[in-house]
Amino acid sequence: MAQYGLDMDIQFLPGVGPKRAELLRKELGVGTVGEMLRLYPFRYIDKSTIVRIADARPDMAYLQVRARVLRVDLYGAAGAVSPPVPNEAGVSDDKKTAAGNAVKFNTVKRMSVWVSDGSGEMEMVFFKGIKWMYGKLRPGAEFIFFGKPTAFNGKMNMVHPEVDAVTPVSGQATLGTMAGATAGGTMADGTTGGTMTGVYQSTERLKNGGVTGKVMNKLMEASLNRGLPEIEESLPEYIMKQCGLVPLHFAMRNIHFPKDMISLEKAKYRLKFEELFYLQLSLLKQKYVRSRAELGIAMPKVGEAFNRCYEALPFPLTGAQKRVITEIRNDMKSGHQMNRLLQGDVGSGKTMVAVLTALIAIGNGFQACIMAPTEVLAQQHYKNIQKFLEPTGVRSALLTGSSKTSERREIHAGLEDGSIGIIVGTHALIEDNVVFRNLGLAIIDEQHRFGVEQRSKLWRKASCGAPPHVLVMTATPIPRTLAMTLYGDLDVSVIDELPPGRKPVQTIHATEGKRPALYRFMRDEIAKGRQVFIVYPLINETEKLDYQSLEAGAEEIMQKFPFPQYKTAVVHGKQLNDVKKFNMDAFAAGRADILVATSVIEVGVDVPNASVMVIESAERFGLSQLHQLRGRVGRGSEKSYCVLMTGPKMSKESRHRIELMCATENGFELAEEDMKMRGPGDLEGTQQSGLPISLNIASLAKDGLILNAARDCAEAVLREDPTLTSDRNQLLRKELRKEKYQIKDYSKIS
Ligand code: ADP
Ligand code: MG
Repeated sequence: MAQYGLDMDIQFLPGVGPKRAELLRKELGVGTVGEMLRLYPFRYIDKSTIVRIADARPDMAYLQVRARVLRVDLYGAAGAVSPPVPNEAGVSDDKKTAAGNAVKFNTVKRMSVWVSDGSGEMEMVFFKGIKWMYGKLRPGAEFIFFGKPTAFNGKMNMVHPEVDAVTPVSGQATLGTMAGATAGGTMADGTTGGTMTGVYQSTERLKNGGVTGKVMNKLMEASLNRGLPEIEESLPEYIMKQCGLVPLHFAMRNIHFPKDMISLEKAKYRLKFEELFYLQLSLLKQKYVRSRAELGIAMPKVGEAFNRCYEALPFPLTGAQKRVITEIRNDMKSGHQMNRLLQGDVGSGKTMVAVLTALIAIGNGFQACIMAPTEVLAQQHYKNIQKFLEPTGVRSALLTGSSKTSERREIHAGLEDGSIGIIVGTHALIEDNVVFRNLGLAIIDEQHRFGVEQRSKLWRKASCGAPPHVLVMTATPIPRTLAMTLYGDLDVSVIDELPPGRKPVQTIHATEGKRPALYRFMRDEIAKGRQVFIVYPLINETEKLDYQSLEAGAEEIMQKFPFPQYKTAVVHGKQLNDVKKFNMDAFAAGRADILVATSVIEVGVDVPNASVMVIESAERFGLSQLHQLRGRVGRGSEKSYCVLMTGPKMSKESRHRIELMCATENGFELAEEDMKMRGPGDLEGTQQSGLPISLNIASLAKDGLILNAARDCAEAVLREDPTLTSDRNQLLRKELRKEKYQIKDYSKIS
């Protein structure tokens, strides 16, 4: 066990020892000085400001007052226990009060300390550590109290404030232990003099184990003293210069003990930049290496099928669709493998692009497959593409888990002999017994629902030496910064334009009291010949309660909208596939007016005649899911509505989500907001694939500008020295080998 330097076990730091070291390891996952130093404060407190009690407000995040103790009240479970309390001499737990009485501290549940600074009074409340504090907070003595103010019964108080004795320094009051470790002149150069103190992640266990904020600051000081000299600069000089970055030593020192605001900002920028820079360098390097080395199937022409389909299109393509098809076309003829992500909001016309892309493969003598995450979606895709394929004469087929054995046999044969050109399906497509004659293109819809394992199977279907081109389509708008990270090694195309003639969807928030009005509104719409979706949350497929509310809801609808005047179809995941399909088809064909469903209809379902989307318990859905659902309406020429039904009480976050939904229809805007609220790791769609890297200090939600700068820099480096072989880039090579930057490649799994 190292006793010096970065690898030093933290138990050898002063005041730690084996017990606290174990606690720190368990609670914060740090075992060495080096790891300690990479634990950055999540906020800073400027302790130089003292607030007058009269100016204290409960909405202040924290405050510091300098005040004298007026009196101390002790309360037990049954009320006041002091003063006076019965003298119980001989009990070691006791302590003499000023009045000579002994307090039996183990019966005291709460201590209330009234203080005044002349401008007003404030109560300091303690539930723990009472005995110790009682001995310290003598009436008449002056202290500095630091904590979060709250209002209680019209008065201000602080619960468990930090307490420091007042010690005069150059005529000015300051804390004896002010700014934790920064005072006292024991720090290495440059760490003294700051008034800002870092606040570190903590837990109840840590606090109970005596590892308070102050102790953490002390530990950081000790860690810096021992570890910093060993830390080596991790960015080449020329990059620091070009990008205006401070050296690592300066950054490490100032992130823990900021000299001032500006130094802190510089430190943060440097550390975030470094993290994002290496992340981008790693991704871009993979992309570069692949685009050079990877053979791809050259598809030089567009072909007959493409042209026939194109000429028969019932509408002109949007500018965005045309641009994207050109990008794809260039990839496919390049001789390198295409790895492209196609992003487009719901209804932006991705299916059209998929069909034309598939037809390019056909035109060059290859087969194409289109994979969807669910049966419903696969069916929908299959149905949708038929009308476009008709003029081309290309044979297509649908293969899903519920395809009958005889059908399946026929399809397998057609794929093997090449008579089926385009196959649409679910993961049934990638079962081992499916053999392609010459698969040249794989289109994956809603990629994030496909497991890595599943895609790797697809990869193995390559039958002509080179891997098929891959086009990943997603309708879940991904914030740009996240896309750059999740798919940094893919080329990205964005359809950022909706087909013309779309009417905005009016989004309304309503609670239970408005239900009769909602039903009236639904009747009006149905009378106009429109259809209505009603969606219930189904967070967990096995959640019994969710099914109960869906069933109860469906029953109520059928009562209020009685057959035969109204026809209601019900669809949920527990139904047999045949039943599900029957009900879905009834709604899609207009035989049912109302579809009551779980979120299975979230993606892909295209019923242009539906003009109302009612989302029940909308507070339980995430933003992107709400947005996907809303995208099911507004596809026809009629004005459409989305009604978000919620309970009367909502969490702050739910309320924010609902408000955002009512305020904007822009999926990217919503995605950005979603990421700000929940962080990238929690975004729908990212849980399964996971972030390729865990960020220590940078935030994809907040540091978009730094990410841009870091990516630009990484690009410039690679443009000049793609293999990082030049002398000045040796450090980059070395850093990239660190485990932290070993990023999983999402598009190519072998
Ligand atoms: P996405 O898959 O991106 O959600 P779709 O491909 O399902 O969107 O397209 C939504 C609807 O818009 C479909 O009914 C489709 O036929 C129609 N559409 C697609 N492209 C155009 C276009 N350029 N002009 C008019 N309508 C279009
Ligand atoms: Mg679609």
